Amino acid sequence: MSESNVSAPTSLGIKGKRVAVIGAGPGGIAAGVALHQAGFSVKVFERHPELRPLGGAIILNATGIVILRGLGVQVDDIFAAGLPEFRRYDGRVRVNFDIDMDLLKQAGVTGWQSGMMRSELYERLLAAAPADMVVPNHTFSHYEEHAEGVTVHFAEGRTYDADLVIGADGVQSKVREQLWGASELKHLGIAVWLGWCELQGPERKKIVIQHNHAYQMGYAPLRYKDKDCFEWWFVEKCEENQVEPTDPAAYVRERINGFSYPVPQILEATDTSHNLFRWVVKYRDPLKQWSNGRVTIMGDAAHPTSPYAAYGAGMAIEDGYFLAKYLRGRDLSDPKALEIGLRRYDDQRVNYTNQTTAFARFLGRLYHGVPAPLNRLRDLFLDHSSLPEKLISKGVTSEAQALLRAVLNPVD
Ligand SMILES: Cc1cc2nc3c(=O)[nH]c(=O)nc-3n(C[C@H](O)[C@H](O)[C@H](O)COP(=O)(O)OP(=O)(O)OC[C@H]3O[C@@H](n4cnc5c(N)ncnc54)[C@H](O)[C@@H]3O)c2cc1C
Repeated sequence: MSESNVSAPTSLGIKGKRVAVIGAGPGGIAAGVALHQAGFSVKVFERHPELRPLGGAIILNATGIVILRGLGVQVDDIFAAGLPEFRRYDGRVRVNFDIDMDLLKQAGVTGWQSGMMRSELYERLLAAAPADMVVPNHTFSHYEEHAEGVTVHFAEGRTYDADLVIGADGVQSKVREQLWGASELKHLGIAVWLGWCELQGPERKKIVIQHNHAYQMGYAPLRYKDKDCFEWWFVEKCEENQVEPTDPAAYVRERINGFSYPVPQILEATDTSHNLFRWVVKYRDPLKQWSNGRVTIMGDAAHPTSPYAAYGAGMAIEDGYFLAKYLRGRDLSDPKALEIGLRRYDDQRVNYTNQTTAFARFLGRLYHGVPAPLNRLRDLFLDHSSLPEKLISKGVTSEAQALLRAVLNPVD
């Protein structure tokens, strides 16, 4: 683009209230809605011409549901809730998650996590946003901080003046790269297959995560277009450049041989030519700080997570909620006021998400990174020890339940 083609920056609104969010994934849109409701002029810039919900179905945590309801996002008719349980391949229960049912009652949910379709989640988020909040065809290029604020540049040639830039641009975040420098995208050593199907019959109150010596197969109730469905995921060890199988359905079917009802039935009911997706899981080393000056990051840009947590979108939605909570009422043109708000956001989120993503990586390695001769010993241990239940309680449920309590009973 030549200098003469570059137009003068457009201001995003009244000085002190201008927020540019980069990336319209679940995190960016939720942050946009929350910040708009907190009184800011927000634009969410997306590189694609239309939104592209990644994959098919998703499991959203109870705190995410509570936050969405609080933002006026109508989701109650698009999810099916369940309580998670680790089981052996043959159905024997290994770990019951230690969930405070009174807390769930207070939250108005019947499950710890809920299955929903990503596309429906996006639709409902957008329905709660101002019509022009998401701006498509804008590929973030770089930002420039200056005495008057921050100017955001897009590859297509447009520039905008804002008081705050939020990088919600996912695992390949360019905002993070400019703010904190380049970092290696690391291979975790696992691949995930995601599918979903319409199916009636199997129990719909549990989210089941089953393992044999080498593979995980999990499934959860899903509500889609008013129909009872199930989403499922298959996790396996994977080399960095492993070639994809030519017949994915046969590949997965062969590997879940021996898994108990209803796993074979769920796979059988899946239209594998359309509703089966594969991801090789990547992560980055965690940061100790996210915000600096007039720029911060959130969601996968800040804490890319393994699907073992089934919590990446949930954490991204929580990030948006806390950003709005700590920025509400502040004059963002005042560097000190902005710094205090962003520091509170970092204090609330950085350690929590780092611990959560570290534990998810640990689980991925425990189940898929142990050398073959040792995995039977590991499974004997998992069958007969109470340690896994204690680890899950410490690593997953206690901190996450404390967070749900904090969202239900905000102190300031
Ligand atoms: C296989 C798999 C299963 C998962 N299952 C679950 C689950 O069950 N539950 C759960 O909570 N999470 C799950 N996750 C994680 C979840 O999908 C992510 O954590 C979540 O999508 C992160 O949201 P985000 O908004 O931060 O980023 P993203 O969803 O990655 O969105 C980023 C957006 O930024 C845009 N963008 C990128 N670069 C630019 C640029 N330069 N300029 C403008 N726009 C840009 C992208 O196009 C995209 O729209 C799963 C992930 C995978 C891979």
